[in-house]
Amino acid sequence: MADGRQKTRPPGKVLHITSLANPVVKEIRGLALPKNRRASGQFVAEGQKLVTDAIEAGWTIRRLVHSARVADDAQVGRLAATARTRGGDVVVVSEAVLAKMTRRENPQTVIGVFDQHLTRPAAIRPGPDAVWVALEQVRDPGNLGTIIRTVDAVGAAGVILVGDTVDPFSIEAVRATMGSIFHVPLARATPEEFARMIAAWPGTSVGTHLAGTVDYRTAGYRGPVLLVMGAEQSGLSPELAAACSTLVRIPQAGKADSLNLAVATGVMLFEIRREALKLDG
Ligand code: SAM
Repeated sequence: MADGRQKTRPPGKVLHITSLANPVVKEIRGLALPKNRRASGQFVAEGQKLVTDAIEAGWTIRRLVHSARVADDAQVGRLAATARTRGGDVVVVSEAVLAKMTRRENPQTVIGVFDQHLTRPAAIRPGPDAVWVALEQVRDPGNLGTIIRTVDAVGAAGVILVGDTVDPFSIEAVRATMGSIFHVPLARATPEEFARMIAAWPGTSVGTHLAGTVDYRTAGYRGPVLLVMGAEQSGLSPELAAACSTLVRIPQAGKADSLNLAVATGVMLFEIRREALKLDG
């Protein structure tokens, strides 16, 4: 996987595209498909806020695309200048081209193409207070994006995607992170790699399970904590449940048989990080 962090490159070019048949249009449009994101190691972030977040966080920009309509906007001008200095091309397009690139009738006026960045599982060295979240076979991009945003909000260390999961760099997942994808380390692990990681984990590995017998508010969370969440449909696999040092449950009332995965992850993270989180003042 490409390293998405900034490396020194020659300054980027400026291109003006009005033809829907331009190959750059097809290339960027193609990044909506998982196979093209896998092959290129790139992804699209849509909207000025996300693109600004990515650039400020030092992610490698390949292309900054903006509508000709905002060419005189001072902020867009600054983004374009930074993108070029960092080696990214600036592509100025018509509304029709932007709509085709993004597959939307009302596209954002600014989009960015960035290199993906994933941390290798072997590079994870959790400090004593770190909290990592492992997601087994997460399928819903909205859930994954919301979890990444929540991990960012509680100051947890990062997210490990275990097994066959949704792509964190899909447009929907990136959008749901609201920019947190650029601040939260992400790793992918095969079930075998993760089994080794959990066996060697130096602190508590906490599985969440509907059959857990420990109330999540009474469990001890000796750091570093590895919080292990199950899949939306099938829950935590028996193998991972057996590998965790504790299995906790969030008590429920009413008729719902479980909580949404992202909601359950949020409840757990705010409990685990309870002492670390304070209101200012
Ligand atoms: N049918 C699935 C099952 O049997 O586990 C429901 C999965 S639930 C939608 C997705 C994940 O959220 C679960 O695997 C678990 O990690 C977590 N979860 C949801 N509600 C929970 C609860 N009340 N206590 C503990 N974990 C919960």
